[in-house]
Amino acid sequence: MICPNCGTRLPEDSTRCHFCGYVIQQENNRANSYIVIFTLAVVLLAVSLLLFVVTGKIKIDTRLRAILCLIAGVVVTWIYWKISSWMTRRISGSRP
Ligand SMILES: [Zn+2]
Repeated sequence: MICPNCGTRLPEDSTRCHFCGYVIQQENNRANSYIVIFTLAVVLLAVSLLLFVVTGKIKIDTRLRAILCLIAGVVVTWIYWKISSWMTRRISGSRP
């Protein structure tokens, strides 16, 4: 890993930079990425299910409809993820 404060290369399990003393919040980062994955999974499931219910009256094969809804769900989730990561970058980028 690389120290986010000074850019020194550190062992992967470091909790503190030996060069500048920056405390690396590895646990927080891991928890955050779990939250992101969980949120994306919920969005994917919600969008796919919603589309599946909404398109219920369309007379096409149920399996085909399910696959199409899942694909649409993946696309929407991907767009959501892109927008949210862009927003996060903007927010953290504006911090001094
Ligand atoms: Zn450092």
